[in-house]
Amino acid sequence: MDKIVLGLDIGGTSVKIGFLTRKGEILKKWEIPTNRKEHGKYIVEEIWQSVLKNLTSINLDQQSIYSIGAGAPGFIDRNSGIIYEAVNIGWKNYNLAGQLKALANVPVFIENDANLAALGENWKGAGNGARNMIAVTLGTGVGGGIIVNGEVLSGVNGTGGEIGHIIVESEGAVCNCGGKGCLETIVSATGMVRQALELIGDNPSSQLSNLYDKNGEVSAKDVFNLAGKGDKLSQQIIDRNTGILGSLLANLSVIINPSVITIGGGLSQAGETFINAIADSFHRNAMPRVSEVCSIKVAELGNDAALIGAAKMSHDFDMQSILLNENTCDKTAY
Ligand SMILES: [Zn+2]
Repeated sequence: MDKIVLGLDIGGTSVKIGFLTRKGEILKKWEIPTNRKEHGKYIVEEIWQSVLKNLTSINLDQQSIYSIGAGAPGFIDRNSGIIYEAVNIGWKNYNLAGQLKALANVPVFIENDANLAALGENWKGAGNGARNMIAVTLGTGVGGGIIVNGEVLSGVNGTGGEIGHIIVESEGAVCNCGGKGCLETIVSATGMVRQALELIGDNPSSQLSNLYDKNGEVSAKDVFNLAGKGDKLSQQIIDRNTGILGSLLANLSVIINPSVITIGGGLSQAGETFINAIADSFHRNAMPRVSEVCSIKVAELGNDAALIGAAKMSHDFDMQSILLNENTCDKTAY
């Protein structure tokens, strides 16, 4: 069997682990819980033990690993392999690449998880190989990955492409980043719940208010469900969110000039109406020349995007090495 790429998508709750071919096909994938004890010091060792066990289960061993690609939330320096800070995990100035390299002794590639998902989506999903693309992930928070001229935009200290922290409402709700009114405080599952709770009191006859009185809580899913049943208050929240996101993407597109924008994450599953409303707002607000070349698409790879992105980093490294006609290249691997 050919050598495999080990893909890791390290999140605050679970670590997704995958064995992939060097062409990005997933051979096996599974998850383990993220052990956040003592600032996450056991995570890498637990991943490695799980990897060894699963290699054995398919009659492979450590020598079968060609390279490792890993994504984690937070600010990451892909060139040094260091995680400046991953709040949900507990890592600060953590040398993830070094730790993995010490265990596996193969090239290791590290990237922010949203950037990794953008790479995966670009390679095998809705991005369809676009050289200029914006990927947005709408979940509990808002993730963003931007590909410009075929490369992920990372910036001077790993903050490039953090779309969720663009301010859209000055003096708005406080964000996890310490700022106020970031996109993430509005167009996310938590943002939608917050807006719903703010509006319920003034609109006691709405279906949303009735549901809240009955259950003592509401979810973003409830807002979508009730909007589908004609609840005006729920529709008002969705209209505001799609309007804000569409115009923000139109503004970003003046800088990036992308051919595709992918929308992923839990909220992207809310249905065609939601995505179409984002697209309408985008095309209404974007400069005609920007709008006419860009389509808004639902991301296709779901939770696999970051694992596939991990294989893409390894693939790109190989391509660079071939171009340079040498076996080593000091750009991103360790
Ligand atoms: Zn923020």
